[in-house]
Amino acid sequence: MSAQRRTHKLLPEPTPVSRPFWEAARKRVLSLQRCDKCAEYVFYPRGLCSHCGSAELTWTEVSGRGTVYSFTVARRPTMVGFQDEVPYVIAIVELDEGPRMTTNIVGCDPESIRIDMRVEAAFERESDEITLVKFRPVESS
Ligand code: ZN
Repeated sequence: MSAQRRTHKLLPEPTPVSRPFWEAARKRVLSLQRCDKCAEYVFYPRGLCSHCGSAELTWTEVSGRGTVYSFTVARRPTMVGFQDEVPYVIAIVELDEGPRMTTNIVGCDPESIRIDMRVEAAFERESDEITLVKFRPVESS
């Protein structure tokens, strides 16, 4: 991975609400907010539970496992900085804990990806602050 490509990629910018997610990712841990009232998991990071509206959300380490809910193969770069990465896979992964994440599937041939395929979190460090959460196929699933 070249330094040049890294500087040209647009990286997420942590906010006060999302910072715990990025701090966990940097330690290669997937952490989601969980509601203290209704026990549902919430993603993306937010101030109120998307299920019951409670403000009592606690950051909780989760399994990092899920299934491919939907995906597409990008054969042309969809953003500046991604021209060296085509083809790449943009996917929605449904986590075992419930929430769906928009992400990339890595570590396999894009043609081998299927809906409902089992995947697990794969962390890719982009900068001192940002480690992206991507997913890869679970071996022997
Ligand atoms: Zn709730």
